[in-house]
This record gives sequence, C-alpha cells and structure tokens, in this order.
Amino acid sequence: MSAKKLTCLDCGQVNRVPAERLNAKAKCGTCGAGLLRAKVVDIDPAILAKAARNDDVPLVVDFWAPWCGPCKMMAPEFAKAAQALSGQARLVKLNTEDHAQAGVKYNIRGIPTLVAFQKGREFKRQSGALREDQIVDLVR
Ligand SMILES: [Zn+2]
Repeated sequence: MSAKKLTCLDCGQVNRVPAERLNAKAKCGTCGAGLLRAKVVDIDPAILAKAARNDDVPLVVDFWAPWCGPCKMMAPEFAKAAQALSGQARLVKLNTEDHAQAGVKYNIRGIPTLVAFQKGREFKRQSGALREDQIVDLVR
C-alpha cells in the first residue's frame, strides 16, 4: 500500500499516512492533531502553501472575508460538505481580509471563491456561494 502525503493543518508537518489508515483516527506524528477531521479548519497562508504543494488528498480552500454576505451564507453549506467529504477531501477556509497577500497570490478576484488543490496543482476553481451538493460535486 502506498502512503499518502498530508500536511498537518495545525503545525504544518508533512505526514505520510498509509492509505489503509487514511481515516478519522489519523494523527499528526509531530503534534498529535487529527489529520482528517470532518470539519472546516481555519488556516493561514503558510499552511496553505505547504498543503497545496504536498497533499495527496484534495484540499478545498474557501477564500472568504467577514464582511462578505454570500460567504456567511455559504459557511453552513461548506461545513456540511466537510462532513459529507470526510476522508476524501479536507475543507479549509482562509480569511482574505486578514491575509490579503494570499488573495493576490492565488489570484482571487471575488469571494467566496473555492479552489481545490491536489498533488501540487489546482484542479478546480469556482466563485460564488454554493450549496453543499454543489461543493461535493466540485470535489468528486
Ligand atoms: Zn501537527
């Protein structure tokens, strides 16, 4: 069985997890944080850059800001999608008000924008508020 690379969303350590252990119990070897939590994790640009570059499991980033109404509307749908995609993808959010440079780096022109990364490349991008099923479809 091949190991999958997964960046810890808490400490940034790149973990190698055997495919058969890729489940809710998978933990970071450095800090012990769960690697595959069925919930949305708030991350910063440094963790995003590492995870986008290394992860074998899809990473779906919600670029959002607190002042954005559609972003708030989508938040509960994004949380439901994180549960629905548990073990298949990790859903994270990045606050573009706190981290304006990240918005520039990833060429975010409007929010909310979802960008999905896997194995060092972007494979999906969609702007506008989406429902849970649309988010799930985007990733699968
Ligand atoms: Zn860790």
